[in-house]
Amino acid sequence: MQRTWLIAANWKMNGSAALVDEMTSVLANITNSQLQLLLCPPATLLCRFKTARNFALGGQTLSHEVSGAYTGELSAALLQEAGASYVIVGHSERRTLNAESDELVAAKLARAVAAGLTPILCVGETQMQRQQEKTQQVIARQLDAVYASQPELLAKSVIAYEPIWAIGTGESATPELAQQTHAFIRQHLTQYDAAAAAKVKLLYGGSVNADNCSALFMQTDIDGALVGGASLKP
Ligand code: PEP
Repeated sequence: MQRTWLIAANWKMNGSAALVDEMTSVLANITNSQLQLLLCPPATLLCRFKTARNFALGGQTLSHEVSGAYTGELSAALLQEAGASYVIVGHSERRTLNAESDELVAAKLARAVAAGLTPILCVGETQMQRQQEKTQQVIARQLDAVYASQPELLAKSVIAYEPIWAIGTGESATPELAQQTHAFIRQHLTQYDAAAAAKVKLLYGGSVNADNCSALFMQTDIDGALVGGASLKP
């Protein structure tokens, strides 16, 4: 199936107002109808992007609550008001550093969809889990936690396979290895909604850069990338 590519930039806790302007003018030169671009800057920078631009904006996380006394949190509505149409959910850094459980990730994803944001669900195994050949088991658990009880959310989701050992290490998965896992993910998702599984965009994330992206994007089940470090270089 022909799916358009989505390239999503995760700036994490990096960037500046100056980078917003620089990136906007560099990306203005990109005209490719097969390619969707998405920037996920720190939330404080979202409002600095002009409304007229040729790329989408996203948040890096959101609260599973609608509003209220949750100091420091950001709701789906606040992200949308700031210009976001996507939101990253369950990034491994948040699962690890902020102790986000599978259940919380599922609740956040449901909240994003309910508000009209497109969630990018991140899944992926640690180095140890990979060595123990538990990659598929871990990813199946992370997917099931979200879609087993709410399969209708799959059609509204993007999924990013991000092996944790490849994030920020310079050691990307090989295109073959990434394809193998993406094919597993797509196959696993058919039990929830076969039509949605065929259509869902599967991004690869983990040390993607200008040198290795083409080979990754040639793979059948890779529909784009979630890019961290390299996305800060216009
Ligand atoms: C990420 O954090 O989502 C990521 C893929 O980072 P990097 O590209 O730096 O490995």
